[in-house]
Amino acid sequence: MTADASAHNISRIIQTICPFCGVGCGIGLRVEQEKITGVEPLASHPVSQGKLCAKGWSTAYAVDPIDRITTPLIRENGSFRPASWDEAYQVITEAFLAAAAEKGADAVGVIACARATNEDCYAAQKFARAVLGTNNIDHCARICHSPSVAGLRQTLGSGAMTNSIDDIEKADLIVIFGCDPTENHSVLGGRIIGAKMAGARLLVVDPRLTRLARMADLHLQLQLGTNIALINGLLQIIFANGWEATEFLSSRCENETALRAKVAEYPPERVAAITGVPEEKLIAAARMYAKAERALLTYGMGITQYTTGTNNVISISNLALVAGQIGREGTGINPLRGQNNVQGACDMGALPNVFPGYQEVAQQTNRDKFADHWQKKLPENKGLTSLGMTKGALSGEVRCMLIMGEDPVVTDPDQHHVQRALEALDLLVVIELVMTETAAMADVILPAAAFSEKAGTFTNCERRVQLIQPAIAAPGEAKPDWQILGELASRLGYHHMDWPNAEAIFNEIAALSPLYQGMSYPKLAENHGLQWPCNEQAPNGTPLLHRQQFSRGKGRLIPVSHADPAEVPDEAYPLFFTTTRLHYHYGCGSMTRKSPLLERETPSGILFINPADAQALAIKPQTKVRISSRRGEVETGAIITDEVPPGTVAMPYHFKEAPSNRLTNTAQDPVTKMPELKACAVRVTNLEVEHK
Ligand code: SF4
Repeated sequence: MTADASAHNISRIIQTICPFCGVGCGIGLRVEQEKITGVEPLASHPVSQGKLCAKGWSTAYAVDPIDRITTPLIRENGSFRPASWDEAYQVITEAFLAAAAEKGADAVGVIACARATNEDCYAAQKFARAVLGTNNIDHCARICHSPSVAGLRQTLGSGAMTNSIDDIEKADLIVIFGCDPTENHSVLGGRIIGAKMAGARLLVVDPRLTRLARMADLHLQLQLGTNIALINGLLQIIFANGWEATEFLSSRCENETALRAKVAEYPPERVAAITGVPEEKLIAAARMYAKAERALLTYGMGITQYTTGTNNVISISNLALVAGQIGREGTGINPLRGQNNVQGACDMGALPNVFPGYQEVAQQTNRDKFADHWQKKLPENKGLTSLGMTKGALSGEVRCMLIMGEDPVVTDPDQHHVQRALEALDLLVVIELVMTETAAMADVILPAAAFSEKAGTFTNCERRVQLIQPAIAAPGEAKPDWQILGELASRLGYHHMDWPNAEAIFNEIAALSPLYQGMSYPKLAENHGLQWPCNEQAPNGTPLLHRQQFSRGKGRLIPVSHADPAEVPDEAYPLFFTTTRLHYHYGCGSMTRKSPLLERETPSGILFINPADAQALAIKPQTKVRISSRRGEVETGAIITDEVPPGTVAMPYHFKEAPSNRLTNTAQDPVTKMPELKACAVRVTNLEVEHK
């Protein structure tokens, strides 16, 4: 913004980053008379290159001040009343101190937010560790890509996307595993379609007949929850035919013998029986991937949201290592991070086991380093995950929680269980923009500034740290989350979070995290962001990881075995159920559902059902149906489509009127506690037949 534009109050464009998905497109917010009146794409942005998806174009609605929370609110006699910041902080500090005095520091838990800035997330984990004295800090990466972080750290030493979005156009084969980027990461999905049109081949592995599957050269339509069997089968074929990358395996990997022995248990006929994919398609896919010159593999929650999530990621890594499809441009393992700053929230250590930069809490040297900087003795106790905190609330172990901008009542599995847990707390504090289902259960709500009202950074899925800047003032008394947490810290007697601005926090992050060490706001502004690691060895950032060697040295091959989902269809619940996302909505819908344009595009709650299953139940388009699982039931309208295979139904999770998470299973991946959101068993009832 120029001084002239401000003085004359004429229309101006503020360059910033889209607040929705992990692609991190560049947007310009048009500001007129101190209101955001429109959005435009940034032609010069390296990722979005002048394009935006429907969500990006609708950003102005998402931050419309209508319905915003503008003062602190305290629950009294069953409803909320406005309160001063002083009063709200007083209520919170009394409850937090009482809980800690009675049950110890771990009686309080903090949930950070993958939509908030790096600075906010850094403040949240510092607040938990240095102020409250607990490692009970987590966020929604737990239920999206925690298995990527855990799995790839074991095999490669780093849990992030190995390559850059620009590599899509450098690959001659693009493999899409368990995701549909045209729905969830649409600008990136558009670049994949562009690459296909320009001659790249497309291999899609997905139980659904997605948009990209329809365009693919080969689609492996596997049975839900059979990823490991399928990948072990591909590896068996690769080894049996001598298609492995021999030189790469011997010089850069370890544990080949053990992997060979494991995958020998998965001959094509066995794998075809488990996965439902014909043997000839398995052989064709193995050949295609192993023999491609540059094969770029992307994956999403069709890999991670299983009780075998971490092992699924490990098997993806096995495949890329054996074929040597990593460490070069146009190749790699590329988990598509969902929310705009889920990569950053993980980088900031908003996780129970790591400090910023993935420095293990369990290591004394790391605790000493952070204790020195933060001037506070730090807890050694293992922290609880977000689902662990929910369980702890029910058992009485956790007495108070602070939730920053997330809506677990809508987004976490088994909604009734989450509601009971939050009701059981002595105090629930929610920092939010608008009244979500979770905020409605709070005892105290603190009003937060939106992304368009504050400075900070987001880190996209290709590890690009990008600046955002305020376009307008926050409404009423709303403030950035980091400022709220800093003020609360002071009330609790800790005075090393009283930063003057977001840039001071970023400088503290850079000083403590080797991944961000070489970054500063001026440097980020000059470069349209920088990709970590950025430090003395890589002052301009790192677009491609693992070029010469892996972060852990050698790439580790780890044998893993197929296991069925925790709950499979039976007589009482005869259909598989899976959750999906829609192009037009994002997360719990608290931002996208404010847009009339996006709301117009989809009905509020949908069950996708295959024509064969619909016929068996006399279901017609938009017939009202009830979906029941062992945990609850939901009523909604049916859409008949061959996008889902016979025997499997699917629901998007964005709609609070039809909350799919009333049905989902809390069974968890033993390593990361990721719940199995992608598979459970349900029964569908045609309500029109039942009511006759
Ligand atoms: Fe925003 Fe993602 Fe769409 Fe880009 S692809 S405009 S980052 S929602």
